[in-house]
Amino acid sequence: MKSHYRVVVIGGGVVGASVLYHLAKLGWTDVCLIERSVLTAGSSWHAAGGIHALNADPNIAQLQAYTIDLLSEIEEESGQNIGLHMTGGLTMAGTPDRWEWLQSAYRTFQSIGIDDCRLVSVEEAVALNPIMSGDGLLGGMWADREGYIDTTGTVHAYAGAAKKRGATVIEHNRVLELNQTLEGWEVVTEKGTINCEHVVNAAGLWAKQVGRMAGIELPVSPLNHHYLISDTIPQLEELDFEVPMTVDLEGFTYLRQDQKGVLLGIYEINHQHWMMDGAPWEYGFELQQEDPDRIEHELTLGFERYPCLQEVGVKTWVNGAFTFSPDGNPLVGPVRGKRGYWSACAVMAGFLQGGGVGKSLAEWMIHGTPEADVYGMDVARYGIWAENKQYIKETTGQFYTRRFVMTYPNEQLPAGRPLKMAGAHADMTAAGCQWGQSWDLEVPLYFAKPGFEETPSLKRSNAHPIVGDECRAVRDSAGLLDISGFSRFEVTGPNAQTWLDQLMASKLPAPGRAKLAPMLAEDGRLKGDLTVFNWGDGVWWIMGSYYLRQWHARWFDDHMIAGVTVRDLGEEMAGFSLAGPASLKVIEKLTDGPIADLKFMGCGHFDIGMLRCMVGRLSVAGELGYEIHCRAGDHATLRRTLLAAGADVRLREYGFNALLSLRLEKSFGIWNAEFTQGYTPGMTGMDRWIDWNKDFIGKQAAVAERDGNGPAQKLVTLEVDADGADASGYEPIWAAGKQVGFVTSGGFGHTTGKSLAMALVDQAHCAPGTDLSLHIVGVERPAKVIPPSPHDPRGERMRG
Ligand SMILES: Cc1cc2nc3c(=O)[nH]c(=O)nc-3n(C[C@H](O)[C@H](O)[C@H](O)COP(=O)(O)OP(=O)(O)OC[C@H]3O[C@@H](n4cnc5c(N)ncnc54)[C@H](O)[C@@H]3O)c2cc1C
Repeated sequence: MKSHYRVVVIGGGVVGASVLYHLAKLGWTDVCLIERSVLTAGSSWHAAGGIHALNADPNIAQLQAYTIDLLSEIEEESGQNIGLHMTGGLTMAGTPDRWEWLQSAYRTFQSIGIDDCRLVSVEEAVALNPIMSGDGLLGGMWADREGYIDTTGTVHAYAGAAKKRGATVIEHNRVLELNQTLEGWEVVTEKGTINCEHVVNAAGLWAKQVGRMAGIELPVSPLNHHYLISDTIPQLEELDFEVPMTVDLEGFTYLRQDQKGVLLGIYEINHQHWMMDGAPWEYGFELQQEDPDRIEHELTLGFERYPCLQEVGVKTWVNGAFTFSPDGNPLVGPVRGKRGYWSACAVMAGFLQGGGVGKSLAEWMIHGTPEADVYGMDVARYGIWAENKQYIKETTGQFYTRRFVMTYPNEQLPAGRPLKMAGAHADMTAAGCQWGQSWDLEVPLYFAKPGFEETPSLKRSNAHPIVGDECRAVRDSAGLLDISGFSRFEVTGPNAQTWLDQLMASKLPAPGRAKLAPMLAEDGRLKGDLTVFNWGDGVWWIMGSYYLRQWHARWFDDHMIAGVTVRDLGEEMAGFSLAGPASLKVIEKLTDGPIADLKFMGCGHFDIGMLRCMVGRLSVAGELGYEIHCRAGDHATLRRTLLAAGADVRLREYGFNALLSLRLEKSFGIWNAEFTQGYTPGMTGMDRWIDWNKDFIGKQAAVAERDGNGPAQKLVTLEVDADGADASGYEPIWAAGKQVGFVTSGGFGHTTGKSLAMALVDQAHCAPGTDLSLHIVGVERPAKVIPPSPHDPRGERMRG
């Protein structure tokens, strides 16, 4: 065994093998995979091997599509048979809402370029899968590229293809210890010690322990999962084709053919965790005892859906474990504070997602950033709070149980909540606040009368008029919003300005000023839509999205220079935004400081009532407004003080649902919708904030975009002729039957009375006045490109 490799991948399941393959494919061949037992010895050997298209996150759905396309490539490259059965697949809906949801999902697929799907009637679906009963079903989606593979063959194909490209695989060698060194990592194994620059945790069922070897608590847990393989089914013997991979969403089952019988897999409502601290080291090719009683309800539904199962016996039961993160998506990428330690675990559907995970991770390691926007599976989407075992248990359990349960966009799920609450939480709850969650924090959605319950809906819900009233209050007088859910980083030190200047693509603000600041990656794509504050005396703030705290902190760490201190104030500071034409009248009463002199985008320290606060004059609502920051412990006092001072102008509390509507009326983009790490400044209009006269990270690529032919698509605002439902995101946009873009976000503009959307649209169709159409909850609606900012287009109310 060599004593040095550039990369050591720990774990020879499908994920580790795929990472190894992609590293070698991209040119890093001094790489080795170390496996405790033999390849496939974790979850991989007993997986059902199903591959299907659906994922709630479109970016992950795209990576799944990549994996499916890759399978035959690795088969050919390795010469290893992977038993690919591309039977096509059906996903069936059994309730009216689910059927509408599936029609929306189909349109989302069109938006992201997955074009081998079509909607099918129940009759058509039953013809495609004749052993399925159509009872209670309303429709389905067909996808050409679905089916199943032989799991062991697939892992060996990845590993074989990697070896052919120069990579090394070492079996029967457990990694015992990991020690960080100046150059990277010392990997202590049963067969000796290896030094490497990078280590990859692809340890599957053992990922928890391999995390702990480096002092990392990954939010991951195994759960048990059943499938059965039936005896031969006479009906299948008579068919001259294989039945398609079929998912019955309301039945909690998936099915595929296995020889002349079927494999029926069950997502168990009564879920069961297994070895939350990781599998025992001696765990081998074993399974858990099947427990049909625990899954009786789902089994009954399955046997009703496929009546032929009532006539034959069960040949084999499998009850095995695989791993889940709190939201069910993988944990991939560099771990903050552990240079050279990469996570490739919690991959729930390794055969479906493993290719995309391997590709993205290898690109990240070699090129510094993955090609796709992989935020949805980035390990940095969780913070320290997600290390808690009870939190992991509740959230992974919730995800597992709801795997095939429909979640509405306006639905708030209970697991792992409430966790962190701002100081005024109890008072706001008493005032009727309905809460959502951002990262670990409870954030206000809207304020309702006692006893109000929001109906889960794909369309406008019964909260729609409440949110409308809140929006009008802000535009007509003044509104108060808890903004504890913004991130705040303090930057100080002799080189603070130099550091910020090369990190941000915009000019930096002068003392007492704030500035919108795009932050770019080296490849010129967006890394942040931030606001930089210069409080004077060498104290700066970076403000952004609260849920990106860890993600941004990792970026700051990775680009740190000497003489700079960055402090995340997320646990220390909280605040309120006071916005609306009457806001000056309210805040003026509370301070004898020169608040009326504070210009738009000005900032400073003010006494507000009895509190010492930091105030910036800006508002996401697009009105005259003030963001008032206080110590976390002062939050309730600040709220009481502001509400008392605002009583005579009928100051009204509002939540983020209203803010999302107000910002849409101003065409203000937000992260993870208009702005993502997949988009560029030119596409999104962020280029207007760039200072082209200075050096900054990503400048070369940004200049190339500026001086080139321009981006293919541009961000526009649309007015939609909607009917009871608004666009939400990823709906396809059409011009004369041709797809010309997709929605980035949408909603109802309550004070303009318009259904609005923002969208990335081909340049030829961007001009205001252009007639287009888009699909909302599966129904095509007319839309028109309008000039940006339908409310107060000149920004006079905000600046005035
Ligand atoms: C019943 C069942 C059905 C499933 N059906 C499907 C399906 O239809 N489609 C699908 O895509 N997925 C399915 N899955 C999930 C799939 O099995 C997993 O997503 C996948 O196997 C995860 O692969 P992995 O490489 O991350 O982990 P694993 O397969 O667990 O591999 C991890 C490897 O790391 C090794 N290892 C751990 N620690 C060390 C160490 N210290 N030193 C050296 N080696 C170490 C282990 O021995 C193991 O071989 C199913 C799972 C189960 C249980």
